[in-house]
Amino acid sequence: MTLYMPVNDSKPCNKASFSTRIIDWYDKFGRKHLPWQIDKTPYKVWISEIMLQQTQVNTVIPYYLKFMERFPDILSLADAHQDEVLHHWTGLGYYARARNLHKSAQVIRDEYAGMFPTDFEQVVALPGIGRSTAGAILSLSLGQQHAILDGNVKRVLARHGAIEGWPGKKAVENQLWELTDRLTPKAEIEKYNQAMMDIGASICARSRPACSQCPVAIDCRAQLSGRQSEYPGKKPRKIIPEKNAFMLVLTKGEDAKLEKRPPAGIWGGLWCFPEFSSRNALETYLVENNLDSHKSEELPGFRHTFSHFHLDITPIYIRIAPPGDNQIMEDKPSLWYNLHNPPKVGLAAATERILASLGSVLIKE
Ligand code: SF4
Repeated sequence: MTLYMPVNDSKPCNKASFSTRIIDWYDKFGRKHLPWQIDKTPYKVWISEIMLQQTQVNTVIPYYLKFMERFPDILSLADAHQDEVLHHWTGLGYYARARNLHKSAQVIRDEYAGMFPTDFEQVVALPGIGRSTAGAILSLSLGQQHAILDGNVKRVLARHGAIEGWPGKKAVENQLWELTDRLTPKAEIEKYNQAMMDIGASICARSRPACSQCPVAIDCRAQLSGRQSEYPGKKPRKIIPEKNAFMLVLTKGEDAKLEKRPPAGIWGGLWCFPEFSSRNALETYLVENNLDSHKSEELPGFRHTFSHFHLDITPIYIRIAPPGDNQIMEDKPSLWYNLHNPPKVGLAAATERILASLGSVLIKE
């Protein structure tokens, strides 16, 4: 019999019993009818796993359904224009996920004849797919034997084994990988992995975990000591810098001018209002483009926070003559975005926010 010894604990608990309890819980309570669980394929599980990163199941479902309607298979995704892929991602955030999905689909089309690879090393080499996601795709869709360690599983294991430290630290992450490798059963991998993710997302929630419903509560060290809130360890706090940006909100009739961001960096590949680092720079642009004679109005500013800085945005609104061509120009990084008949392009979060406020400004005029 294999024994699982929680870290720093003198009392071993039974490995088989841990996974058996998890699988029994799945049989009774696990979700089995989510859209990506019906007629499972690596493609469906891949899309769902990427969408579920940083996003909850109920939010993901409508995005997933629309995405699959438009991109039902790898080839339709690979052959699509990036703008359209980003458009279907608008609202989900973390757009690098969508850009990587698109790139990966093209790699699969070009290098694997459009068939999702089934070899772990090939899957983990695809853009945007890490060790845990590769394990999840192959175990959930094909029953391959791979342990997983997404954010939800980390939380369950860190609490159950009372693993100290922030999982973003390599040493802590390695400890959690050792643990998940040891606890993952040889049989019924698909149920076990799905259940671990579900328990982490629902029962072992970040705040106020429902330990009375948890199948592994009896030997959970955090629960036994009443220290659930201390695990996983928190990321060390650091003060992030503040930056300013001035966005030119130029409208013509029902159209607003947007520019495409470069593919890499903040809001990469998405459409934004022209951005300037200072009011002076914006005014220089107005002079250079003969726009300085138009009346400008400052719209309410707001803060957008990225992981590494705060961006304080001031939108400057200018209205010019009636609309002209509002076609998307593939070879030029700008377009006139029609507010009543919006083109299918990916919008940065700040763009969406300003566009939403623009409706009320136009109504007042
Ligand atoms: S007993 Fe509570 S803290 Fe421990 S794994 Fe279960 S839900 Fe999480």
